Amino acid sequence: MDNRFRFRVAWTFVALICVTTWVCLTAVLYISHEKFRLQNYYFYEREFSKNEADVGIKYRHIPPKKENILPKDEDLFESRSLSGFPSISYADYPDDIIALHDVFISVKTSEKFHSTRLDLILRTWWNTAKEQIYIFTDVDDNQLKNRTDGHIINTKCRRTHHRQDLSCKIGQEYDAFIESGKKWWCHFDDDNYVNVDALLRSLRNYNWKSDVYLGKPSINHVVEAIYKGNKVHFWFATGGAGVCISRSLGEKMNSWSRHGKFQATSERLKLPDDCTLGFIINNRLGVELTKVDEFHSHLEQLSLIQQDKLSQQVSLSYFIDEDKGSNVIELDKKISAYSIEDDPTRFLSLHCLINPKVGWCSKEKAMQRNQVNV
Ligand code: UDP
Ligand code: MN
Repeated sequence: MDNRFRFRVAWTFVALICVTTWVCLTAVLYISHEKFRLQNYYFYEREFSKNEADVGIKYRHIPPKKENILPKDEDLFESRSLSGFPSISYADYPDDIIALHDVFISVKTSEKFHSTRLDLILRTWWNTAKEQIYIFTDVDDNQLKNRTDGHIINTKCRRTHHRQDLSCKIGQEYDAFIESGKKWWCHFDDDNYVNVDALLRSLRNYNWKSDVYLGKPSINHVVEAIYKGNKVHFWFATGGAGVCISRSLGEKMNSWSRHGKFQATSERLKLPDDCTLGFIINNRLGVELTKVDEFHSHLEQLSLIQQDKLSQQVSLSYFIDEDKGSNVIELDKKISAYSIEDDPTRFLSLHCLINPKVGWCSKEKAMQRNQVNV
């Protein structure tokens, strides 16, 4: 072998080693950069949601682009606020402020309350969200079907206040929410008044793409129960004050709730519907209950709510019983469209306080009523 040939082989060998080293180095650098970008992305997204929830301003979620799982940094945020968190100005993404059509509202009732509690709802807050509200009852009622434009569902659950029957209804409310594709599900009882504007304002403080469970606990300690032979502990929001659940959370509840499973879970737990919701959410899924002060059931003393704050509340309730006494909100005569005799629940007057332009709330109508009463 002559020297020239040896020289060529040696150079080819050196060139090969150089190319291989260059390829390896480029690959290592690329992978570590991607890893860094991934960590950064999650860091910012987590801090972003926390910041938004804390200050209670509108939230815009930036979904990762499907074709490229990691969004580029410039897609993620255009500018930053002084606190170092991204400020919200994303030209690329549509506005995501929660509106009425994003919410599925279910009301649980029963035949015996159609002409009393439900009638009161239909005269008042129903009119502020007709398209959004669905009524879950236990009988066919053609008159109500017409009046609600078909927004009444016969669950065929039995007509009692027993655990199984209430869970049967709420299980169907859940199924209907999942099928509706809405961003939020809010459940209320038929003895609730809901200020739909205040509800929307409240929902806008949270992200429907996160796991959010909103309501008001009625007891100040965790519930202890037995599930499949094991002790379980959880917090729950009382159903009588209303409960809201985000889409993200709703979908995760599937295996304990969908197509009749909610009733089965409630049976296993031997607890009512609202406790079962708390068990699934807080115990099984580890999602905290977010207490919202503006939700109210008749388990709290309603007369303690300041009158000038009444129109800011999300939900209110009442309890009227001749023997046990009554628990209703307090509204002074001078700001009431109706007297206590004509409006024992105070919901008519409350509705007028919140919506003074409603025809039957006007002063003239109130005077006519008084004259008729005299
Ligand atoms: N409810 C029902 N079937 C019944 C009794 C009550 O679906 O046999 C519903 C009722 O319409 C209300 C909720 O369950 O939406 C709570 O009922 P209620 O206010 O009478 O009792 P609470 O639990 O508040 O004491
Ligand atoms: Mn009640």
